[in-house]
Parts: sequence; structure tokens; C-alpha cells
Amino acid sequence: MAKIEMKTALVEMDGDEMTRIIWQMIKDELICPYVELKSEYFDLGLEMRNATDDQVTIDSAEATKRLGVAVKCATITPNAARMEEYDLKQMWKSPNGTIRALLDGTVFRAPIVVKGIDPVVRTWKKPITIARHAYGDVYKNTEIRVPGAGTAELVFTAADGTVTREKIHEFEGAGVIQGTHNLDASIESFARSCFEYALATGQDLWFATKDTISKTYDHRFKDVFAEVFEADYRTRFEAAGIEYFYTLIDDAVARVMKSEGGFIWACKNYDGDVMSDMLSSAFGSLAMMTSVLVSPHGYFEYEAAHGTVQRHYYKHLKGEPTSTNSVATIFAWTGALRKRGELDATPELVEFADRLERATIQTIEAGKMTGDLARITSLEDVTTLGTREFILAVRETLDALA
Ligand code: NAP
Ligand code: MG
Repeated sequence: MAKIEMKTALVEMDGDEMTRIIWQMIKDELICPYVELKSEYFDLGLEMRNATDDQVTIDSAEATKRLGVAVKCATITPNAARMEEYDLKQMWKSPNGTIRALLDGTVFRAPIVVKGIDPVVRTWKKPITIARHAYGDVYKNTEIRVPGAGTAELVFTAADGTVTREKIHEFEGAGVIQGTHNLDASIESFARSCFEYALATGQDLWFATKDTISKTYDHRFKDVFAEVFEADYRTRFEAAGIEYFYTLIDDAVARVMKSEGGFIWACKNYDGDVMSDMLSSAFGSLAMMTSVLVSPHGYFEYEAAHGTVQRHYYKHLKGEPTSTNSVATIFAWTGALRKRGELDATPELVEFADRLERATIQTIEAGKMTGDLARITSLEDVTTLGTREFILAVRETLDALA
């Protein structure tokens, strides 16, 4: 059978530990036998990041700006233990953070819904995608421990020297203060990424803040979204038959719980951090969660939401059998191949990505799955497969679908 041709290369960002092992298996068994893979390869494994002083991460992000589509393997974010384990020159920053800063993107996370892995919320029929703003607020805060009585003020000195001053609190005893900020430009990029992604996936967009309490800060988020929507998206949303819906964060949480799913939920940075963990657990498993970074300039970087699965990797190194779930990493590849196919008008590539996703889902629905899913499935007569065996089972289903 002739392999599917690609018109343009995609950026391939290899990673660490168990996901690096899975990466190669997916390429060998599920991609390369069917697709004449064109990729610009960057090794973001920790050893190469250390050897290149992290230049390889920057290069991979720059290549993504040039080619438009990337697929990324999970990578280690170094901590003190990793400094020693890998004899690092420096505690390199999180590659995801570096790439996100360079592409100015928003991360969208969506569960992969499979029969037999049932959401704990009974009404959810379709996936809920979380869009998390990735800049500012409490993640770039300044804090002071107030030792005792005194006055706390918020002071802004403009470039021309004009000073604006607001009293925060007259402390009579000890306490704490926190200063946070955000930028109109970042909020606008976030809004545009969300509107674009809603159009690209044909889903409604929800957004929520606490603007009744935070009348300047959160209200600015609400206003920026409304301004961008009216100026550039209302007509396109109407033509696509989708809606933009704004509400208060507490109302949003209540509505999400009673919804059927099938929409994008845009969240401020903290809300997105907390709610994405809630959603992935409620939908079943972190190993069934896809993640895509969408930049307002139209670049896309696909990855799995989970980490490098270190515990399984150490078992693998000792020659012990592993049963690591490769579904989210397979879907990172299909996401990138489909986007490449859409951008290059290569329908065979889009069709292949769809087929590989169907094969993956059907394999699980037929009762063949890795241990993490076998433990939580409502299916009976389940076969628990090892890491490679599951990928081979998907290949068998894929060949039967062809
Ligand atoms: P993790 O790799 O997500 O794994 C945590 C646990 O979740 C695993 O031990 C395993 O549970 C389960 N799990 C996660 N993915 C699984 C899969 N595909 N199949 C089966 N089980 C899975 O998180 P971590 O152990 O906290 O982090 C390991 C490394 O990943 C760290 O160095 C961290 O910096 C990095 N990380 C990278 C990214 C990224 O690149 N996007 C994201 C998060 C973390 P059991 O052990 O119970 O089987
Ligand atoms: Mg979190």
C-alpha cells in the first residue's frame, strides 16, 4: 500500500523517560508504516537541553513559528533531584513554559471520551474543553508578609511620573498582602485564541470571571472578550451557528455540572489550573487528556496532558513489564497530522488521523486496554495489555479499518 505523502513538515519535539519510549513505538508502529513522515526533529530530552544550554527548546519553538504545526512528547521539568540525576549545568526552565512564552499561546485541554470509561458526572455526554489563560494573576504575584500594624497601599507610578495611590488596608495586626497584574495585550491574545479555537472546532465558547466583586481587574477580562467578540467574531460565530456566552464563575461551575458538555470553557489562569484537574479526574484519567497550545498567530502545538510517567520508566529500565497508556500521545500525533492535512489541503492525511483515532477508541471499547483504564472501566471481560501490546492492538484495529 502506498504511503500518504505530506506536503509540509511538522515539528517533532521528542522528550523524556517512558513517554520517549512510547514516542518511538507510536512512530514505528502507527505512523511511519502509513505516512511518509516529514518532520523537523528536535530532541527536547533533558540531556540535549542541558548540552545545548536549552537552545534546542528555543529552536523548536522558532521552527513551530515557521512550519505552523508541532507535536511534543512529555518532558522533565528539572527540580533539585533531577539536577543530581542528570548532572545538570542549571535548573532549566519548563520547556512548556518556554515554548508557550515564545508562541504566546493558550492551552486547550480536552478529554478523550470512550465507552466504558464513564464520566462521574452522569449528564456529560460530550467532552468539555478547558482553555486556560497562561499569563499573570497569582502566577506572577508579589507578596508581603505583614508583621504587624501599618498601612498597605497600592501605588502605580506612570512613565510620566504621575502617581496613582489606593489604600489596601489599615492593618491593626499581622497579616498578608498580594499584588497581581495582567496585560490588555495578553488578555486580548487569550480571547482571540479562544474565539479562533471555537470556530476551528465548531463549539460554543463560555467565559467566566468574578467581575461583580473584582470591578476593575476581572471586569477588564470581561470587557476585552466582549470588545474582541463584537469587533471580529460575532458575524463569524453566527455564520458557524455557535455562541459566545459570558457568566459569573460560580454560575459557570453550576452550569457545567448540569450540562451535556460539548463546549469550550475559557478560564482565567487560576480557574483553569484548578478546573482542568477537576475535569480530567471527572472524565476518567489524565492519560486520556489531550492538550494543544494555540497561538493567536495560528500556530498549533499538540501534546499529552500527562508527564513522563517516571515510575513506569524505572520499571522499564529494570526490565519489568509496564502498562503505560499511550492514548494521549497517539492523539497528540493525530492532532498534529490532522492540522497539517487541513492546512496543506491533504485530505488523505486528515482521513488517516481520523482513522487512527477511531482505531484507538475501538480497541479500548473492545476491552483491550492498559492497566490504568482496566482499573476504572465499566466494561466486563477486559484484557489488560502491556505498553507495546496495546500499541500493537491498535495497529491491528487500524489495519482492519483500512
Ligand atoms: P506523570 O508523569 O503524569 O505521572 C503521574 C502518575 O500518573 C504516574 O505515576 C501514573 O500513575 C499516572 N499516569 C500518568 N500518565 C500515565 C499514562 N500515560 N499511563 C498510565 N499511567 C499514567 O507525573 P509525574 O510523575 O508527577 O511527573 C513525571 C515527570 O513529568 C516530571 O519530571 C515532570 O516534570 C514531568 N511533567 C511533564 C509534563 C509535560 O511535559 N507536559 C507535564 C507534567 C509533568 P501510577 O504510578 O499509579 O501508575
Ligand atoms: Mg494544576
